[in-house]
Amino acid sequence: MLTSSLVVVSSRLPIDGTVTPDGVTEWRRDNGGLVRAMHPILRDTAAAWVGWSGRVDDTPTKLPDLDGMHLHPVPLSTADYEDYYEGFANSTLWPLYHDAVEQPAHHRRWWEAYHRVNQRFAEATARVAAKGAVVWVQDYHLQLVPAMLRRMRPDLRIGFFMHVSFPPGELFMQLPRRVELLEGLLGADLVGFQRPGGARNFAWLAGHALRARNTHRGIEYEGRLIRTGAFPISINVAEVETLARNPRTIARAKQLRADLGDPARVILAVDRLDYIKGIEQRLKVYRELLADGRIKVTDTVMVQVAVPSRQRVGHYRDLAERIEREVGRINGDFGKLGAAAVHYLNQAIKPPELVALYRAADVMAVTPLRDGMNLLAKEYVAARVDGGGALILSEFAGSAAELKHAYLVNPHDVDGTKDTFIQALEADPADNRKRMRAMRRHVHAHDVQRWAHSYLTALTGS
Ligand code: UDP
Repeated sequence: MLTSSLVVVSSRLPIDGTVTPDGVTEWRRDNGGLVRAMHPILRDTAAAWVGWSGRVDDTPTKLPDLDGMHLHPVPLSTADYEDYYEGFANSTLWPLYHDAVEQPAHHRRWWEAYHRVNQRFAEATARVAAKGAVVWVQDYHLQLVPAMLRRMRPDLRIGFFMHVSFPPGELFMQLPRRVELLEGLLGADLVGFQRPGGARNFAWLAGHALRARNTHRGIEYEGRLIRTGAFPISINVAEVETLARNPRTIARAKQLRADLGDPARVILAVDRLDYIKGIEQRLKVYRELLADGRIKVTDTVMVQVAVPSRQRVGHYRDLAERIEREVGRINGDFGKLGAAAVHYLNQAIKPPELVALYRAADVMAVTPLRDGMNLLAKEYVAARVDGGGALILSEFAGSAAELKHAYLVNPHDVDGTKDTFIQALEADPADNRKRMRAMRRHVHAHDVQRWAHSYLTALTGS
């Protein structure tokens, strides 16, 4: 077995397989968030990536290298997928880590699957990591891997990065297996979070639940030092800007506005269809602005893209139905023939079209109830190479800590959010340009390469 000196471990491999009519599987680079974040850094290293291929009960024995990167598939059965991925990861941890905006569910079977699958990931990683290799474990699906891996391979340098928000201790303590989860993370040398608050929550929990010692150097536990820190993830700024400057994108943005009836103002919202994204709350704000007469469908149009997500999980199916109903009601009550109040797309949009939408929107509203980072907010800023546009951003998105010149809102506060929508729509264009300039400066100086570099530098201590 060929081993690698840098190994990335994530729940999904950065590929998508499609079966051709003659039954052959073709593998293509997947364009999901993490992959797009990691790709520029790993492209030129002889790195390995350990993860699931996306196929249940059917694991490819060998995958093609991806730009020099070796891909190592970890098998998942249907039961693993249902209990580990949809169950423990997305119906226990996900709601709990996001303020329990939906009730987290607890089932012992889900935990057992989570443990079993994490063990499988750790074993696969132990096989491919060279002696003394650096291993970077990603996200909440794999929190037990650092400690499991350390037991098998004490020679490795192990990092963990939590992409989602990490909750206050009081919430985390609800987890029946809180001790194992904390011990799992403490197997790493460096545990990274999006925000300093996540690192603080973790350190408090380690002290409270495990009697670990917190010092200025980090957490001391079982004779080891575990460092923590905030490493806010970002986007590939150059990629977004290149797309935004492409004449085809500019023409498409113009066309999109024309298709919308050339309204004076276009408001854009793009979200994965998830209850953390605050879609219902935002539609309520929009409905009330229309009802109050502060916005008229004849001059203002809202586009809501909601990308289907986790459709087999009950909370998500229910949410999709509620949103469709509400969009229908708003259009029924306020639309005019040929002029919808909300243009609703329940589909994924490819990057070139998404960037055209960013360029077409006067205001982008990103108002999650809780979100680890929210990359869309950063993408919108990066796409505004023209210096135009305005960003409404929830205080509860990780990106709010960096994009301080956005119009910040508390999405739970309907009246406050309504006023901020009007403020953003009616601001002096010079003021909006000033805000956008400041945000663009920040995003430029903090792109994804810098993120990965600063994390890996902290991990390897060089
Ligand atoms: N995205 C996309 N098409 C869409 C909507 C989103 O390609 O129709 C991409 C978007 O460009 C971004 C990512 O999906 O890179 C969403 O990341 P974010 O952190 O905003 O949210 P998440 O889905 O990870 O919760």
